[in-house]
Amino acid sequence: MLTPSRHSNAIPVSGRSHWNQALLCVAGLVLLAGLLGCTTRGTGSKSTPTLGFVLVIHGGSGVPDRGTLTPEHDAELRAALNLALQAGERILRTNGTSSAAVVAAITVLEDSPLFNAGRGAVLNRDGVVEMDAALMEGAGRRAGAVAGIHTARNPIEAARAVMEHTPHVLLVGSGADAFVAEQKLRVEPPNYFITEPRRREWEQWRREKGLRSDAGPEGLHNRSRNRLGTVGAVALDRHGNLAAGTSTGGLGGKRPGRVGDSPLIGAGTYADNDTCAVSATGHGEFFIRAMVAHDIAALMAYRGLSLESAAELVVRRKLVDFGGEGGVIAVDRKGNVAMPYNGDGMHRGMVRENGERSTAIYEK
Ligand code: ASP
Repeated sequence: MLTPSRHSNAIPVSGRSHWNQALLCVAGLVLLAGLLGCTTRGTGSKSTPTLGFVLVIHGGSGVPDRGTLTPEHDAELRAALNLALQAGERILRTNGTSSAAVVAAITVLEDSPLFNAGRGAVLNRDGVVEMDAALMEGAGRRAGAVAGIHTARNPIEAARAVMEHTPHVLLVGSGADAFVAEQKLRVEPPNYFITEPRRREWEQWRREKGLRSDAGPEGLHNRSRNRLGTVGAVALDRHGNLAAGTSTGGLGGKRPGRVGDSPLIGAGTYADNDTCAVSATGHGEFFIRAMVAHDIAALMAYRGLSLESAAELVVRRKLVDFGGEGGVIAVDRKGNVAMPYNGDGMHRGMVRENGERSTAIYEK
């Protein structure tokens, strides 16, 4: 209960009761404003009434070459995307938060061996899985991230734990692995993460590397099929709050210790209730140098661009001029969605409160 300040002793008894009434009145107004959804949140801006929740997910911009995707694999990929959408949707439909929905959707994709995150992550130059993830909330711009981790079954959970249980934003390598153990998050042995197709892909790359002197780790990086499957999610919840998350094994054949854009706030992941939530996928080095996710938010904030124009400008103009291949998924505080990419396609899907739902890999 609020009490008058230390000067309260100077207030006569009758004045004190007026004081209490005034306080009750103010408290009542604050409560009413809260119920009407007019309270100010984290970033100091007013929340906007929305048409309901939206969840958008991606499963990476490295799509199979056109014509090589079998109907069975297509169905398998879409089924996994739909499972992830359902996991996030359940949370949003029961008034859960956008960050809980983002974590739930990404967890499903990390558990699926089809994507380059969690189980099924690509191997680095030395045949080891090193994973990166980030989570950011638009309210208050809270964020947590991990990079170069080896044991967490769900790196996105580790990113959330950094956000919730430390004063830091990014933990890396052995320190992050130790934090995962300390937090008692679910851990797995190295073999859990390495699937047979990923091992074969790595072995083939090693053979090619032996045959071609110019095929360093970059030889694997540059082929977009080897980037298949970074995962991400962005959401707007019924409370008007945005969130974004991204999780990846990075680039196949990468140098040990290499970190891409995914866990870097502002590069591969960003959320701000005043503008939008963004999760990126593509050749991370370009996304870092172009500050892709924050650039989209900044174009909205400083130049007043719509989400669609801002995302298009960054992905289809700036990144293309730069030579960076990939895409983003993004949602703004009104529930507008953008999913531009500048390569052949991007595994993606979305669901809205009104039941609208879709998945796509190329144009569709
Ligand atoms: N952006 C990720 C990285 O560079 C890879 C990807 O999205 O495919 O680590």
